Amino acid sequence: MTEPTIYELSSTGRVGVEYPLPDVPLTDFPVELLREDLPLPELSEVDVVRHFTHLSSLNYCIDTGLYPLGSCTMKYNPKINEETARLPGFAHTHPLQPAETVQVNLALMFELQEFLKEISGFAGVCLEPAAGAQGEMVGVMIIRAYHRSRGDSKRVKMLIPDSAHGTNPASSAMSGFEVVPVPSDASGNVDLAALKAICDDTVAGLMLTNPNTLGLFDENVLEVIKTVHAAGGLVYGDGANLNALLGIARPGDLGFDLMHFNLHKTFSTPHGGGGPGSGPVGVTKKLIDFLPTPVVAVIEEGSEELPPLYGFTTPKQTIGRVKSFYGQFGMIVRAFTYIRMQGPDGLKKVSQYAVLNANYLLSRLQGAYVLPYKRRCMHEFVLEGCWADAPEVHAMDVAKRLMDYKFHPPTNYFPLIVHEALMIEPTETESMQTLDLFADAMLKIAEEAHTHPELLKSAPHDTPISRLDEVKAAKDLVLCCWIPEDN
Ligand SMILES: *Cc1c(COP(=O)(O)O)cnc(C)c1O
Repeated sequence: MTEPTIYELSSTGRVGVEYPLPDVPLTDFPVELLREDLPLPELSEVDVVRHFTHLSSLNYCIDTGLYPLGSCTMKYNPKINEETARLPGFAHTHPLQPAETVQVNLALMFELQEFLKEISGFAGVCLEPAAGAQGEMVGVMIIRAYHRSRGDSKRVKMLIPDSAHGTNPASSAMSGFEVVPVPSDASGNVDLAALKAICDDTVAGLMLTNPNTLGLFDENVLEVIKTVHAAGGLVYGDGANLNALLGIARPGDLGFDLMHFNLHKTFSTPHGGGGPGSGPVGVTKKLIDFLPTPVVAVIEEGSEELPPLYGFTTPKQTIGRVKSFYGQFGMIVRAFTYIRMQGPDGLKKVSQYAVLNANYLLSRLQGAYVLPYKRRCMHEFVLEGCWADAPEVHAMDVAKRLMDYKFHPPTNYFPLIVHEALMIEPTETESMQTLDLFADAMLKIAEEAHTHPELLKSAPHDTPISRLDEVKAAKDLVLCCWIPEDN
Protein backbone atom coordinates (compact mmCIF):
# COMPACT_ATOMS: atom_id res chain seq x y z
CA MET A 1 0.00 0.00 0.00
CA THR A 2 1.35 3.44 -0.84
CA GLU A 3 -0.14 6.63 0.48
CA PRO A 4 -1.98 8.73 -2.15
CA THR A 5 -0.15 11.92 -2.99
CA ILE A 6 -1.82 15.27 -2.71
CA TYR A 7 -1.92 15.33 -6.52
CA GLU A 8 -3.86 12.10 -6.65
CA LEU A 9 -6.36 13.50 -4.16
CA SER A 10 -6.87 16.56 -6.35
CA SER A 11 -10.31 17.17 -7.84
CA THR A 12 -10.69 19.73 -10.62
CA GLY A 13 -12.42 22.90 -9.49
CA ARG A 14 -12.23 22.23 -5.75
CA VAL A 15 -10.89 25.14 -3.73
CA GLY A 16 -9.62 25.68 -0.23
CA VAL A 17 -10.02 29.43 0.06
CA GLU A 18 -12.15 31.93 -1.79
CA TYR A 19 -10.73 35.41 -1.70
CA PRO A 20 -13.05 38.39 -1.58
CA LEU A 21 -12.83 40.76 -4.52
CA PRO A 22 -10.15 43.35 -3.78
CA ASP A 23 -11.26 46.85 -2.85
CA VAL A 24 -8.49 48.39 -4.95
CA PRO A 25 -8.54 48.74 -8.74
CA LEU A 26 -7.50 45.59 -10.63
CA THR A 27 -4.42 45.81 -12.81
CA ASP A 28 -2.92 43.35 -15.23
CA PHE A 29 -0.16 41.19 -13.84
CA PRO A 30 2.88 41.16 -16.14
CA VAL A 31 2.13 37.95 -18.04
CA GLU A 32 5.76 37.28 -18.84
CA LEU A 33 6.22 36.51 -15.13
CA LEU A 34 3.51 33.85 -15.19
CA ARG A 35 4.18 30.21 -15.89
CA GLU A 36 2.04 28.87 -18.72
CA ASP A 37 1.29 25.71 -16.91
CA LEU A 38 1.21 25.33 -13.15
CA PRO A 39 -0.45 22.03 -12.27
CA LEU A 40 -1.24 22.62 -8.62
CA PRO A 41 -3.49 20.17 -6.81
CA GLU A 42 -7.04 21.38 -6.21
CA LEU A 43 -8.32 20.53 -2.75
CA SER A 44 -10.52 21.84 0.02
CA GLU A 45 -9.05 22.96 3.33
CA VAL A 46 -10.19 19.84 5.14
CA ASP A 47 -8.66 17.62 2.43
CA VAL A 48 -5.32 19.31 2.99
CA VAL A 49 -5.52 19.19 6.78
CA ARG A 50 -6.45 15.49 6.78
CA HIS A 51 -3.76 14.62 4.26
CA PHE A 52 -0.92 16.27 6.14
CA THR A 53 -2.15 15.29 9.59
CA HIS A 54 -2.27 11.70 8.39
CA LEU A 55 1.22 11.93 6.89
CA SER A 56 2.57 13.40 10.11
CA SER A 57 1.22 10.42 12.04
CA LEU A 58 3.23 8.02 9.84
CA ASN A 59 6.45 9.23 11.43
CA TYR A 60 7.72 7.17 14.30
CA CYS A 61 9.13 9.42 16.98
CA ILE A 62 9.99 9.47 20.64
CA ASP A 63 6.58 11.00 21.36
CA THR A 64 4.90 7.90 19.91
CA GLY A 65 7.08 5.12 21.28
CA LEU A 66 10.32 3.61 22.54
CA TYR A 67 13.30 4.47 20.33
CA PRO A 68 16.08 2.10 21.41
CA LEU A 69 18.62 3.30 18.84
CA GLY A 70 21.96 2.42 20.43
CA SER A 71 24.58 5.17 20.66
CA CYS A 72 21.97 7.83 19.87
CA THR A 73 20.44 8.26 23.35
CA MET A 74 16.92 8.85 22.05
CA LYS A 75 15.51 9.91 25.39
CA TYR A 76 12.22 11.74 25.77
CA ASN A 77 12.60 15.47 25.09
CA PRO A 78 10.73 17.28 27.90
CA LYS A 79 8.20 19.77 26.57
CA ILE A 80 9.33 22.48 28.96
CA ASN A 81 12.55 22.69 26.90
CA GLU A 82 10.40 23.70 23.94
CA GLU A 83 8.54 26.28 26.01
CA THR A 84 11.72 28.03 27.11
CA ALA A 85 13.36 27.87 23.67
CA ARG A 86 10.27 29.59 22.26
CA LEU A 87 10.23 32.45 24.79
CA PRO A 88 10.26 35.53 22.56
CA GLY A 89 13.38 36.96 24.23
CA PHE A 90 15.31 33.87 23.15
CA ALA A 91 13.56 32.94 19.92
CA HIS A 92 13.49 36.43 18.43
CA THR A 93 17.05 37.55 19.13
CA HIS A 94 19.08 38.37 16.06
CA PRO A 95 22.63 36.99 16.06
CA LEU A 96 24.01 40.34 14.91
CA GLN A 97 22.57 42.22 17.90
CA PRO A 98 25.22 43.98 20.01
CA ALA A 99 26.22 42.01 23.11
CA GLU A 100 24.84 44.69 25.47
CA THR A 101 21.33 44.02 24.13
CA VAL A 102 21.43 40.23 24.63
CA GLN A 103 22.83 39.97 28.13
CA VAL A 104 20.34 37.33 29.27
CA ASN A 105 21.21 35.11 26.30
CA LEU A 106 24.88 35.50 27.14
CA ALA A 107 24.25 34.82 30.82
CA LEU A 108 22.47 31.59 29.86
CA MET A 109 25.34 30.55 27.57
CA PHE A 110 27.87 31.36 30.28
CA GLU A 111 25.96 29.34 32.85
CA LEU A 112 25.66 26.38 30.49
CA GLN A 113 29.44 26.50 29.96
CA GLU A 114 29.81 26.46 33.77
CA PHE A 115 27.35 23.55 34.17
CA LEU A 116 29.15 21.49 31.52
CA LYS A 117 32.49 22.21 33.21
CA GLU A 118 31.10 21.05 36.54
CA ILE A 119 29.50 17.93 35.05
CA SER A 120 32.60 16.88 33.09
CA GLY A 121 35.48 18.08 35.26
CA PHE A 122 36.97 20.23 32.50
CA ALA A 123 38.34 23.76 32.95
CA GLY A 124 36.96 25.40 29.81
CA VAL A 125 34.02 24.85 27.43
CA CYS A 126 33.13 26.30 24.04
CA LEU A 127 29.51 25.90 22.91
CA GLU A 128 30.10 26.59 19.23
CA PRO A 129 30.36 23.19 17.47
CA ALA A 130 27.13 22.21 15.74
CA ALA A 131 27.21 18.45 16.38
CA GLY A 132 29.22 15.69 18.00
CA ALA A 133 31.14 15.10 14.80
CA GLN A 134 32.09 18.76 14.58
CA GLY A 135 33.09 18.70 18.25
CA GLU A 136 35.44 15.83 17.41
CA MET A 137 36.90 17.78 14.54
CA VAL A 138 37.46 20.74 16.86
CA GLY A 139 39.08 18.43 19.42
CA VAL A 140 41.44 16.96 16.86
CA MET A 141 42.34 20.45 15.61
CA ILE A 142 43.07 21.53 19.19
CA ILE A 143 45.33 18.50 19.65
CA ARG A 144 47.27 19.48 16.55
CA ALA A 145 47.48 23.14 17.56
CA TYR A 146 48.73 22.12 21.02
CA HIS A 147 51.58 19.97 19.66
CA ARG A 148 52.52 22.61 17.10
CA SER A 149 52.60 25.34 19.74
CA ARG A 150 55.33 23.32 21.45
CA GLY A 151 57.26 22.94 18.21
CA ASP A 152 56.44 19.23 18.12
CA SER A 153 55.56 18.54 14.50
CA LYS A 154 56.37 14.84 14.23
CA ARG A 155 53.09 13.72 15.83
CA VAL A 156 51.07 12.57 12.84
CA LYS A 157 49.14 9.59 14.23
CA MET A 158 45.70 9.48 15.83
CA LEU A 159 44.95 6.23 17.62
CA ILE A 160 41.37 4.99 17.39
CA PRO A 161 39.97 1.80 18.97
CA ASP A 162 38.26 -0.58 16.56
CA SER A 163 34.97 -0.15 18.44
CA ALA A 164 34.87 3.60 17.68
CA HIS A 165 32.11 5.47 15.92
CA GLY A 166 32.93 6.19 12.26
CA THR A 167 33.05 9.92 12.92
CA ASN A 168 36.28 9.45 14.97
CA PRO A 169 38.48 8.27 12.09
CA ALA A 170 36.66 10.66 9.74
CA SER A 171 37.41 13.71 11.93
CA SER A 172 41.04 12.64 12.27
CA ALA A 173 41.54 11.97 8.58
CA MET A 174 39.85 15.26 7.62
CA SER A 175 42.28 17.06 9.89
CA GLY A 176 45.24 15.42 8.19
CA PHE A 177 46.11 12.76 10.76
CA GLU A 178 47.09 9.22 9.98
CA VAL A 179 44.47 6.97 11.59
CA VAL A 180 45.90 3.99 13.48
CA PRO A 181 43.35 1.44 14.73
CA VAL A 182 43.77 -0.04 18.21
CA PRO A 183 42.26 -3.50 18.72
CA SER A 184 39.91 -4.38 21.57
CA ASP A 185 40.73 -7.28 23.88
CA ALA A 186 38.53 -10.29 24.64
CA SER A 187 36.64 -8.38 27.36
CA GLY A 188 35.84 -5.43 25.09
CA ASN A 189 38.44 -3.08 26.61
CA VAL A 190 41.22 -1.36 24.69
CA ASP A 191 43.95 -3.99 24.20
CA LEU A 192 46.61 -2.54 26.50
CA ALA A 193 49.51 -4.53 25.12
CA ALA A 194 48.65 -3.48 21.57
CA LEU A 195 48.28 0.14 22.68
CA LYS A 196 51.69 0.09 24.38
CA ALA A 197 53.27 -1.35 21.25
CA ILE A 198 51.89 1.48 19.08
CA CYS A 199 52.60 4.40 21.42
CA ASP A 200 55.68 6.40 20.48
CA ASP A 201 56.64 10.02 19.83
CA THR A 202 54.70 10.13 16.55
CA VAL A 203 51.38 9.72 18.38
CA ALA A 204 49.36 12.94 18.60
CA GLY A 205 46.55 11.41 20.59
CA LEU A 206 43.94 8.74 21.22
CA MET A 207 40.20 9.17 20.67
CA LEU A 208 38.43 7.11 23.31
CA THR A 209 34.72 6.54 23.85
CA ASN A 210 34.03 5.51 27.44
CA PRO A 211 31.77 3.70 28.05
CA ASN A 212 32.60 2.43 24.60
CA THR A 213 30.16 1.56 21.83
CA LEU A 214 29.74 -1.94 23.27
CA GLY A 215 28.20 -0.20 26.29
CA LEU A 216 31.19 -1.27 28.40
CA PHE A 217 33.20 0.92 30.74
CA ASP A 218 36.87 0.38 29.93
CA GLU A 219 38.21 -1.34 33.03
CA ASN A 220 41.73 -0.07 32.27
CA VAL A 221 40.79 3.47 31.36
CA LEU A 222 43.31 5.02 33.79
CA GLU A 223 46.10 2.84 32.44
CA VAL A 224 45.10 3.59 28.84
CA ILE A 225 45.22 7.33 29.48
CA LYS A 226 48.52 7.05 31.36
CA THR A 227 50.07 5.12 28.48
CA VAL A 228 49.13 7.76 25.89
CA HIS A 229 50.25 10.60 28.16
CA ALA A 230 53.58 8.88 28.81
CA ALA A 231 54.18 8.87 25.05
CA GLY A 232 53.41 12.61 24.93
CA GLY A 233 49.98 12.21 23.32
CA LEU A 234 46.65 13.71 24.39
CA VAL A 235 43.46 11.76 25.06
CA TYR A 236 40.24 12.90 23.41
CA GLY A 237 36.97 11.70 24.92
CA ASP A 238 34.09 11.02 22.57
CA GLY A 239 31.38 12.17 24.98
CA ALA A 240 28.45 10.65 23.12
CA ASN A 241 28.00 8.13 25.92
CA LEU A 242 28.04 10.59 28.80
CA ASN A 243 24.49 9.52 29.68
CA ALA A 244 26.02 6.65 31.65
CA LEU A 245 28.26 8.85 33.81
CA LEU A 246 26.37 11.96 34.96
CA GLY A 247 27.11 12.66 38.60
CA ILE A 248 29.05 9.40 38.87
CA ALA A 249 32.38 9.90 37.05
CA ARG A 250 33.88 12.95 35.39
CA PRO A 251 36.03 12.48 32.27
CA GLY A 252 38.23 15.41 33.35
CA ASP A 253 38.97 13.63 36.64
CA LEU A 254 39.77 10.39 34.80
CA GLY A 255 42.54 12.18 32.90
CA PHE A 256 40.92 12.95 29.55
CA ASP A 257 42.35 16.14 28.05
CA LEU A 258 39.31 17.20 26.06
CA MET A 259 35.89 15.91 25.06
CA HIS A 260 32.75 16.84 23.17
CA PHE A 261 29.25 16.73 24.65
CA ASN A 262 26.24 15.81 22.55
CA LEU A 263 23.58 18.14 23.91
CA HIS A 264 21.08 16.34 21.64
CA LYS A 265 21.84 13.01 23.29
CA THR A 266 22.70 13.45 26.97
CA PHE A 267 20.87 16.71 27.52
CA SER A 268 17.60 15.87 25.80
CA THR A 269 17.51 18.28 22.87
CA PRO A 270 15.63 16.72 19.93
CA HIS A 271 17.52 14.98 17.13
CA GLY A 272 17.08 12.48 14.36
CA GLY A 273 15.22 14.59 11.82
CA GLY A 274 13.83 16.60 14.72
CA GLY A 275 16.33 19.38 15.01
CA PRO A 276 19.92 20.48 14.76
CA GLY A 277 22.49 18.97 17.08
CA SER A 278 24.95 20.70 19.33
CA GLY A 279 28.41 19.47 20.27
CA PRO A 280 30.19 21.75 22.78
CA VAL A 281 33.80 20.91 23.59
CA GLY A 282 35.37 20.84 27.06
CA VAL A 283 39.13 21.03 27.69
CA THR A 284 41.61 20.94 30.55
CA LYS A 285 43.43 24.06 31.66
CA LYS A 286 46.42 23.68 29.36
CA LEU A 287 44.15 23.62 26.28
CA ILE A 288 41.84 26.53 27.14
CA ASP A 289 43.75 28.97 24.96
CA PHE A 290 43.16 26.81 21.87
CA LEU A 291 39.33 26.69 22.08
CA PRO A 292 37.35 27.95 19.08
CA THR A 293 36.18 31.53 19.15
CA PRO A 294 34.00 32.97 20.57
CA VAL A 295 33.68 31.83 24.18
CA VAL A 296 31.30 33.65 26.50
CA ALA A 297 32.97 35.29 29.50
CA VAL A 298 32.25 37.75 32.29
CA ILE A 299 33.75 41.02 31.07
CA GLU A 300 32.93 43.02 34.19
CA GLU A 301 32.11 41.50 37.55
CA GLY A 302 28.70 42.38 38.93
CA SER A 303 28.00 44.17 42.19
CA GLU A 304 25.12 44.13 44.63
CA GLU A 305 23.13 46.47 42.42
CA LEU A 306 24.35 45.42 38.99
CA PRO A 307 24.48 42.03 37.28
CA PRO A 308 27.80 41.05 35.65
CA LEU A 309 28.47 42.19 32.10
CA TYR A 310 28.90 39.28 29.69
CA GLY A 311 30.63 39.33 26.34
CA PHE A 312 32.31 37.22 23.70
CA THR A 313 36.04 36.56 24.04
CA THR A 314 38.65 35.04 21.76
CA PRO A 315 41.04 32.49 23.31
CA LYS A 316 44.69 33.54 22.82
CA GLN A 317 45.80 30.71 20.50
CA THR A 318 42.35 29.87 19.17
CA ILE A 319 41.97 27.36 16.34
CA GLY A 320 39.51 29.94 14.97
CA ARG A 321 35.83 30.05 14.26
CA VAL A 322 34.18 26.75 13.33
CA LYS A 323 30.60 27.83 12.78
CA SER A 324 28.74 30.99 11.95
CA PHE A 325 27.65 33.00 14.97
CA TYR A 326 27.53 31.28 18.37
CA GLY A 327 26.46 27.64 18.09
CA GLN A 328 22.92 26.27 18.00
CA PHE A 329 21.40 28.72 20.42
CA GLY A 330 17.99 27.01 20.56
CA MET A 331 19.68 23.79 21.65
CA ILE A 332 21.71 25.67 24.22
CA VAL A 333 18.48 26.97 25.78
CA ARG A 334 16.95 23.48 25.78
CA ALA A 335 20.00 21.83 27.36
CA PHE A 336 20.22 24.59 29.97
CA THR A 337 16.54 24.06 30.81
CA TYR A 338 17.02 20.31 31.10
CA ILE A 339 20.00 20.66 33.44
CA ARG A 340 18.18 23.21 35.63
CA MET A 341 15.05 21.05 35.75
CA GLN A 342 17.03 17.95 36.77
CA GLY A 343 19.48 19.56 39.19
CA PRO A 344 22.57 17.64 40.34
CA ASP A 345 20.62 14.81 42.01
CA GLY A 346 18.29 14.50 39.04
CA LEU A 347 21.20 14.20 36.62
CA LYS A 348 22.75 11.46 38.71
CA LYS A 349 19.44 9.60 38.72
CA VAL A 350 19.27 9.97 34.93
CA SER A 351 22.46 7.95 34.59
CA GLN A 352 21.55 5.47 37.30
CA TYR A 353 18.22 4.70 35.62
CA ALA A 354 19.76 4.65 32.14
CA VAL A 355 22.19 1.96 33.35
CA LEU A 356 19.52 0.10 35.31
CA ASN A 357 17.11 0.06 32.36
CA ALA A 358 19.77 -1.25 30.00
CA ASN A 359 20.80 -3.99 32.42
CA TYR A 360 17.18 -4.99 33.01
CA LEU A 361 16.62 -5.37 29.26
CA LEU A 362 19.91 -7.19 28.88
CA SER A 363 18.96 -9.66 31.59
CA ARG A 364 15.66 -10.38 29.84
CA LEU A 365 17.19 -10.85 26.37
CA GLN A 366 20.42 -12.61 27.24
CA GLY A 367 20.10 -16.28 26.37
CA ALA A 368 17.59 -15.78 23.56
CA TYR A 369 20.25 -13.65 21.82
CA VAL A 370 24.02 -14.11 21.86
CA LEU A 371 25.81 -11.57 24.06
CA PRO A 372 29.36 -11.48 22.67
CA TYR A 373 30.99 -9.63 25.60
CA LYS A 374 29.58 -11.17 28.74
CA ARG A 375 29.75 -8.28 31.16
CA ARG A 376 27.33 -6.05 32.96
CA CYS A 377 26.59 -3.16 30.63
CA MET A 378 26.40 0.57 31.17
CA HIS A 379 23.62 2.53 29.39
CA GLU A 380 23.48 0.27 26.33
CA PHE A 381 24.47 -3.20 25.17
CA VAL A 382 25.16 -5.05 21.95
CA LEU A 383 23.70 -8.44 21.00
CA GLU A 384 24.15 -10.58 17.92
CA GLY A 385 21.11 -10.54 15.65
CA CYS A 386 21.79 -14.00 14.28
CA TRP A 387 21.78 -17.63 15.37
CA ALA A 388 23.87 -20.60 14.29
CA ASP A 389 20.70 -22.70 14.08
CA ALA A 390 18.74 -20.13 12.01
CA PRO A 391 21.32 -19.40 9.33
CA GLU A 392 19.13 -17.42 6.95
CA VAL A 393 18.17 -14.77 9.52
CA HIS A 394 20.22 -11.57 9.87
CA ALA A 395 20.21 -8.62 12.27
CA MET A 396 18.44 -6.58 9.60
CA ASP A 397 15.53 -9.07 9.61
CA VAL A 398 15.18 -8.81 13.38
CA ALA A 399 15.15 -5.01 13.09
CA LYS A 400 12.53 -5.03 10.33
CA ARG A 401 10.32 -7.49 12.21
CA LEU A 402 10.35 -5.22 15.28
CA MET A 403 8.49 -2.65 13.19
CA ASP A 404 5.58 -5.10 12.96
CA TYR A 405 5.55 -5.07 16.74
CA LYS A 406 5.36 -1.25 16.61
CA PHE A 407 8.85 -0.59 17.92
CA HIS A 408 11.61 1.44 16.35
CA PRO A 409 14.51 -0.93 15.60
CA PRO A 410 17.79 -0.69 17.49
CA THR A 411 21.03 0.32 15.76
CA ASN A 412 22.19 -2.36 13.30
CA TYR A 413 25.65 -3.47 12.18
CA PHE A 414 27.48 -1.13 14.57
CA PRO A 415 29.88 -1.47 16.30
CA LEU A 416 31.71 -3.28 13.53
CA ILE A 417 33.49 -5.66 15.89
CA VAL A 418 30.25 -7.50 16.73
CA HIS A 419 28.93 -9.92 14.16
CA GLU A 420 25.40 -8.88 13.02
CA ALA A 421 25.24 -6.28 15.79
CA LEU A 422 22.02 -5.10 17.41
CA MET A 423 22.88 -2.18 19.66
CA ILE A 424 20.17 -1.41 22.18
CA GLU A 425 19.89 1.73 24.32
CA PRO A 426 16.56 2.08 26.13
CA THR A 427 17.46 5.30 28.02
CA GLU A 428 16.19 6.26 31.47
CA THR A 429 12.90 7.74 30.30
CA GLU A 430 11.22 4.36 29.63
CA SER A 431 9.06 2.63 32.21
CA MET A 432 9.43 -1.00 33.20
CA GLN A 433 6.12 -1.72 31.42
CA THR A 434 7.50 -0.39 28.13
CA LEU A 435 10.78 -2.26 28.59
CA ASP A 436 8.81 -5.46 29.18
CA LEU A 437 6.73 -4.98 26.03
CA PHE A 438 9.91 -4.45 24.04
CA ALA A 439 11.58 -7.49 25.63
CA ASP A 440 8.46 -9.61 24.90
CA ALA A 441 8.60 -8.55 21.24
CA MET A 442 12.33 -9.31 20.99
CA LEU A 443 11.84 -12.74 22.59
CA LYS A 444 8.95 -13.52 20.25
CA ILE A 445 11.13 -12.56 17.28
CA ALA A 446 13.96 -14.80 18.48
CA GLU A 447 11.44 -17.65 18.59
CA GLU A 448 10.06 -16.80 15.14
CA ALA A 449 13.61 -16.75 13.76
CA HIS A 450 13.68 -20.47 14.47
CA THR A 451 10.06 -21.43 13.73
CA HIS A 452 8.97 -18.99 10.99
CA PRO A 453 12.08 -17.32 9.59
CA GLU A 454 10.12 -16.17 6.51
CA LEU A 455 8.15 -13.83 8.79
CA LEU A 456 11.40 -12.01 9.57
CA LYS A 457 12.78 -12.14 6.03
CA SER A 458 9.69 -10.45 4.57
CA ALA A 459 9.10 -7.94 7.38
CA PRO A 460 7.84 -5.29 7.87
CA HIS A 461 4.31 -6.28 6.88
CA ASP A 462 1.98 -3.53 8.03
CA THR A 463 3.98 -0.35 7.56
CA PRO A 464 2.94 2.06 4.76
CA ILE A 465 5.91 0.88 2.71
CA SER A 466 7.29 -2.64 3.01
CA ARG A 467 10.99 -3.45 2.97
CA LEU A 468 13.05 -0.91 1.11
CA ASP A 469 16.05 -1.61 -1.00
CA GLU A 470 18.22 0.63 1.14
CA VAL A 471 21.15 0.70 -1.27
CA LYS A 472 18.90 1.73 -4.13
CA ALA A 473 17.12 4.26 -1.92
CA ALA A 474 20.45 5.90 -1.07
CA LYS A 475 22.03 5.70 -4.54
CA ASP A 476 18.95 6.54 -6.56
CA LEU A 477 17.38 9.18 -4.41
CA VAL A 478 14.00 10.48 -5.58
CA LEU A 479 13.38 13.75 -3.80
CA CYS A 480 10.12 14.54 -5.58
CA CYS A 481 7.23 12.47 -4.25
CA TRP A 482 5.19 12.87 -7.40
CA ILE A 483 6.11 12.96 -11.05
CA PRO A 484 3.46 14.25 -13.52
CA GLU A 485 2.19 11.46 -15.76
CA ASP A 486 3.24 13.07 -19.04
CA ASN A 487 6.88 13.19 -17.85
C1 LIG B 1 26.40 10.11 17.91
C2 LIG B 1 27.81 9.77 18.07
C3 LIG B 1 28.83 10.57 17.50
C4 LIG B 1 28.57 11.73 16.58
O1 LIG B 1 27.73 12.70 17.07
P1 LIG B 1 26.79 13.56 16.11
O2 LIG B 1 26.21 14.57 17.01
O3 LIG B 1 25.79 12.61 15.54
O4 LIG B 1 27.64 14.15 15.04
C5 LIG B 1 30.14 10.22 17.78
N1 LIG B 1 30.45 9.15 18.52
C6 LIG B 1 29.50 8.36 19.06
C7 LIG B 1 29.92 7.18 19.90
C8 LIG B 1 28.15 8.63 18.84
O5 LIG B 1 27.22 7.84 19.36
